[in-house]
Amino acid sequence: MPARTGSDYLDGLRRQRPEVWLDGTRVIDVTTQPGLANGARAIASLYDLQTDPAHRPAMTFVAGDGGERLGLSFVIPRTQAELQARGKMMLAWARTTCGMMGRSPDFMNVTFAAWAAAADYFGEDRPEFGENMRRYYDYISRNDLVLTHALINLQRSRHVSGQFNLQAGTALQVVKESSAGLTVRGARVLATLGPLADEIAVYSPRVAQHTEKHSPFALNFALPCATPGLRFLCRESFDIGKSHFDHPLGSRFEEMDSIVFFDDVLVPWDRVFLYGDVDRLNNTALVTHSAAHTAHQGAAKNLAKCELVLGVALLVTETLGNGHLPHAEERIGELIMYTELMKACMRAAEADAALDQWGVMCPSALPAETTRNLFMTAYPRMTEILQLLGSSSLMIRPSEADFASPLAGDIAQYLATDTSSAHDRVRLFHLAWDIACSSFGARQVLYERFFASDPLTRARALAAIYPKREAMDRVLAFLQRDDSVV
Ligand SMILES: Cc1cc2nc3c(=O)[nH]c(=O)nc-3n(C[C@H](O)[C@H](O)[C@H](O)COP(=O)(O)OP(=O)(O)OC[C@H]3O[C@@H](n4cnc5c(N)ncnc54)[C@H](O)[C@@H]3O)c2cc1C
Repeated sequence: MPARTGSDYLDGLRRQRPEVWLDGTRVIDVTTQPGLANGARAIASLYDLQTDPAHRPAMTFVAGDGGERLGLSFVIPRTQAELQARGKMMLAWARTTCGMMGRSPDFMNVTFAAWAAAADYFGEDRPEFGENMRRYYDYISRNDLVLTHALINLQRSRHVSGQFNLQAGTALQVVKESSAGLTVRGARVLATLGPLADEIAVYSPRVAQHTEKHSPFALNFALPCATPGLRFLCRESFDIGKSHFDHPLGSRFEEMDSIVFFDDVLVPWDRVFLYGDVDRLNNTALVTHSAAHTAHQGAAKNLAKCELVLGVALLVTETLGNGHLPHAEERIGELIMYTELMKACMRAAEADAALDQWGVMCPSALPAETTRNLFMTAYPRMTEILQLLGSSSLMIRPSEADFASPLAGDIAQYLATDTSSAHDRVRLFHLAWDIACSSFGARQVLYERFFASDPLTRARALAAIYPKREAMDRVLAFLQRDDSVV
């Protein structure tokens, strides 16, 4: 099957019926459920983009056997040109959602493309796991499936600093091995896109904190979301039933986060990619370079988000007529800086890409990872800048219904500015509000702070790959310089 259309994707969701719970109720059809349906539509629009004849060549690629056109985020890039094409494709998707759906399908697609290319890594001790990985990549890429992922075990306590407690009865673990597969029990967080996905991938960066060589907690597998015993519990929806005018982002881009319960779920052997091998799990992201590939996807998302916030900030200052004031210029300057940094890092990651040991053109890890780390603090600051620039105008936001009420005349007269009608002003500030203040916007800030793990862990990961010796040697050379004037 070639790259899917939006309606192919929605039909697939309707057919499979995973167990999804929202606000105390079992969801029958996520594609019509208020609070979830618009997010599904947004993902569908990404699939429509890749099959639109005008965009198809840039959004898809011909699979190696000269056959069907598949979604380009599934490509295993072998050349710099292929990597750059994938970067452009991901940026096009990210711009479609204004960077507000960080877990668009490309995130997991680039992960599995990297893992399939490095399938021998998974098969080193258990050749069947390597084969499983190759077959699974083939399956999801040819069926153009959407994946969610849940990496983090719930914890009952964080009492030991620097350690992560894996407790039976809470964390996900294998409770039985049989000829059919592994039976797993426990809970995982936080499956963003969970109710809108076809498949769930389960692995973990966290077992790295443990020293045992073999552990029932060390797992990498994938399952259909509709597998019996699998339950998705959604947080409250931030698509609160408002119009696109009143709630321009939340009414479109609710990607939903969910807790996943595994109630004695059977994982067939052909869906297992790693089991028990702590060291292999710990090293997966670095050895397969999947971390660099997901950072490349993240960089595209960050750039789209920067472009949105910068554009809104410029329109805010133009609308309010305060763009010439020095403090506004300083804040706009800061937003320009973040935007240009994201752009530069993405280009550097592609320009300095190199073939890895798996024959994959791998984005340069340092610039890509830098965007991931920087955004943890840059994005909250970007939203703060919108609040500072917007001030009380962020409260002067009559609803769409108000514009049709008896107060419409007053609104039109008093809310206009020298450069904007009342309607355009209010529409813009609804957007600024949805970025910087609404529950949808607050969740985006939390997402950027934590989606890629906590800031401490990320900073340590960046430090671990940085060529520190070079910096130290430069300083030592200076200290040893013999240039004293005689
Ligand atoms: C909106 C959102 C979407 C997400 N989507 C996904 C997803 O799709 N898939 C997925 O797998 N995960 C997802 N995550 C989860 C994310 O991976 C975790 O939130 C992240 O790994 C941090 O873990 P935690 O929330 O348990 O925080 P904690 O580990 O509890 O950390 C909380 C704070 O305590 C600090 N801290 C923790 N331990 C220590 C320590 N030992 N010493 C000192 N300080 C410490 C941290 O630095 C942090 O500031 C998402 C998170 C958010 C917020």
